[in-house]
Amino acid sequence: DRIISGEIQEDDVAEELSLRPQLLKQYIGQHNAKENLSIFIEAAKMRNEALDHVLLYGPPGLGKTTMAQIIANEMGVQFKQTSGPAIERSGDLAAILSSLEVGDVLFIDEIHRLPRAVEEILYPGMEDFCLDIVIGQGPSARSVQLDLPPFTLIGATTRAGLLSAPLRDRFGVLSRLEFYEVVDLCAIVERTAEIFQVEIDKAAALEMARRSRGTPRIANRLLKRVRDISQVKGETSISIETTQKALQMLQVDQEGLDHIDHKLLLAMMDGFKGGPVGLDTIAASIGEESQTIEDVYEPYLLQQGFIQRTPRGRLVTPKAYAHFEREVPEA
Ligand code: ADP
Repeated sequence: DRIISGEIQEDDVAEELSLRPQLLKQYIGQHNAKENLSIFIEAAKMRNEALDHVLLYGPPGLGKTTMAQIIANEMGVQFKQTSGPAIERSGDLAAILSSLEVGDVLFIDEIHRLPRAVEEILYPGMEDFCLDIVIGQGPSARSVQLDLPPFTLIGATTRAGLLSAPLRDRFGVLSRLEFYEVVDLCAIVERTAEIFQVEIDKAAALEMARRSRGTPRIANRLLKRVRDISQVKGETSISIETTQKALQMLQVDQEGLDHIDHKLLLAMMDGFKGGPVGLDTIAASIGEESQTIEDVYEPYLLQQGFIQRTPRGRLVTPKAYAHFEREVPEA
């Protein structure tokens, strides 16, 4: 597994529960999303209504699940969690929906992966809080309508564009999570260190923040690895020297890029003169899926300005050439 992947890995599971902030005011960064959501939450509470359905989107590891739990906590309601791929048949979703109580939050992670037939059950559920189910088969089959209590659906996905239009339109609140600023990631590293009960030097926390691709899950993971090495060395506080050495050992460079980013950028430079080159062509040349490149590798490279998206394909920028200490080729 890539140490700098935002996606959850086996090693993360045990800690994530203890690391999740519980309330909006403990949720570091994401000022826009937080401000908007706090207004909607307050208004819903004043009206004594369930919060409107919320779609959270953004790359993995930015805090979508955490935010969904916080919304339930702030609303003072139960939190139920499932995921798109876990719901295979409409009956599964009907069972979940009919178990909801007034105001509950139902969180569906990777909601873009719900099967189409299941998605259609969700429409009347979201819109009119009712469930259409068919009882029996053949000519004796009839459809019955069940009322559901008002509830809040919170969907999470990497890109809002992956959702079908009818599903997307049924969310009242669309909230995009952004890559975190270095100061915010630094605060997250320091908070996690406190929970782990380890001391960390400011410079070390800052270094981890810089190299964690704007992603809290990666920041926490880097801290965990560096902590182990620091403890073995007998340090009383995690130092910058140990952090730099450990990250070098883990092959995470100054900008938080790893061997896969290097492979991708170098393939574009060496094989395609820096582009523009189409996504599928890049994918084939490095043996990765286009979708993985688009959802997992590319967003950070784009945001940091190592590559650009143009109508004719992806383009390597002068910043990327400088990163590898290379000259930009003549056009
Ligand atoms: P996602 O659902 O987007 O993949 P998660 O909500 O599971 O991301 O967050 C990944 C990890 O990062 C969690 O363990 C959580 O503790 C931490 N985290 C995410 N956002 C924040 C934040 N704003 N402040 C502190 N920790 C955070």
